[in-house]
Amino acid sequence: MRLIENLYKVIAPSSCLRCGTEGTLLCAWCNEEALPEEYDRCYRCNALSPQSATCSACRRKSAIKHLFIRTAYTDVAKQLVHVMKFNFSGEAADIIAKELVHALPALPPNTLVIPVPTVSVHVRQRGLDHTARIAAIIAKEKEAVYMPALTHSKFVRQVGASRATRLSQMKDALRVRNPEYIKDCHVLLVDDVLTTGATIEAAASLLKEAGAKSIDAVIFAQAK
Ligand SMILES: [Zn+2]
Ligand SMILES: [Zn+2]
Repeated sequence: MRLIENLYKVIAPSSCLRCGTEGTLLCAWCNEEALPEEYDRCYRCNALSPQSATCSACRRKSAIKHLFIRTAYTDVAKQLVHVMKFNFSGEAADIIAKELVHALPALPPNTLVIPVPTVSVHVRQRGLDHTARIAAIIAKEKEAVYMPALTHSKFVRQVGASRATRLSQMKDALRVRNPEYIKDCHVLLVDDVLTTGATIEAAASLLKEAGAKSIDAVIFAQAK
């Protein structure tokens, strides 16, 4: 555990974000109600879709085959992400990872679990790359291969850009390390929050160009 996490634990011991019970950020009693499950749907158009597959109409514009979402980005989900990002809470990352492990079906053999990279200046400030930590836990629990294959090439502001412009900006901002490892593999992308979808689509598009056989994604919470 990193120093900054230890310091934070000393300053603020965990208590349930919903009911205040001490000892954990989300107690077993609150878990189910605090993080309501999402129904299986296409993440782009919200049409009902078995196994959260991207529907055939949206598939023409997306490299992602299935995108699993654990919950909506409201209340406790928001607080968990906030505590993870800004209070450096490894415990929050571990809770989110556990929820994603349970939300996922069995993965194809030798799936590569790839985190969407956190903007590096934030990692430096926070001292914790939470998405990498979540992806590593998912890989371990699902007997898959953790591979931090994406990295930032430069920071690009997305403010005010159209969907198409954001996608191309994000593709410029990301880079695939060792594309030879991606070829013909099944990939699972991991991220904490889905907002416009531009980042995850750019990541998927780059991995497809690198030769990935199929690309799924799992995200903790979708903002609506
Ligand atoms: Zn509670
Ligand atoms: Zn759709």
